[in-house]
Amino acid sequence: MMKSPNFFGETGLDRMAERRTDSAWLDELSTREDAVVVPVWRTRNLINNIPETPRAVRLALTQLESVLDENAHLIFLGYRDEVPHFSVDLSHIDEPQEMAGIRGTGEFTDIRDISLDLPREDGGLLAYSRAIAQWHKTHQFCGRCGSASLPQDGGHMRKCSNPDCNAQHFPRTDMAVIMLVSSGDKVVLGRKKDWPEDRYSILAGFVEPGETLESAVAREVMEEVGIPITNIRYHSSQPWPFPSNLMLGFVAEAESEKITISDDELADARWFSRDELMDEAKAYAEKPHSISIARRLIAEWTLGSDP
Ligand SMILES: [Zn+2]
Repeated sequence: MMKSPNFFGETGLDRMAERRTDSAWLDELSTREDAVVVPVWRTRNLINNIPETPRAVRLALTQLESVLDENAHLIFLGYRDEVPHFSVDLSHIDEPQEMAGIRGTGEFTDIRDISLDLPREDGGLLAYSRAIAQWHKTHQFCGRCGSASLPQDGGHMRKCSNPDCNAQHFPRTDMAVIMLVSSGDKVVLGRKKDWPEDRYSILAGFVEPGETLESAVAREVMEEVGIPITNIRYHSSQPWPFPSNLMLGFVAEAESEKITISDDELADARWFSRDELMDEAKAYAEKPHSISIARRLIAEWTLGSDP
């Protein structure tokens, strides 16, 4: 059975991927009076000025027409409620919040700071917008020949401008595995060296080329805490656009409880009992949502809802 989506995983959008190669259709959409744009600026998204109820600011596309040029191209995100949604990166402008059309509508904010109060679909919309803007910013040149690349397909592809090369480049997503490892009524949690003294979480790491997800899970657990595991099962995934990760959540069982920290990143790792984790798990369950898949995996295991 499919799990309910994790935070950042719901956008409310129909991406209309099959239409994005039709530039005439996109041009027509971009002139529609009801088309909206969610701007991005230097990894920040435009959020309204109401601290208790932060929301994504959607500007009428017609308000931003004057800033669209080769430095600021439209990215088509999709349709939500029949309304075409676009994104645009304004990072080349020093103070976009002072521009006509934006002034007074909100502040450019890091969505990690306000996620707990964002509606889920706004979280997903803004994460998507931020992730694709970051990809464009860091992929201005062709990785094959070094010539400039140019956005196409509503911003979902970049094509090399060198006619002898013509390479196509697509937005990248870096896969990371994150896993809850249990032994009876205990789970192993680690603390990274740069974390506060009392912060612990489940183990995680990047998938390497030529590796299956299950192998990556087993390898990371062995590398970080020296524990062999079995019964590795997929749970759910979470887009984590800081800058471009997809977190793939797993649960697994330890074959030994002997911890050997061999990872340079970890300062500590230890077993936590269900009782120790219960207060936080209850807090998680009582809130409308908590943003990280790590918290969800710990809470579901602690409260006994894990399959
Ligand atoms: Zn090229």
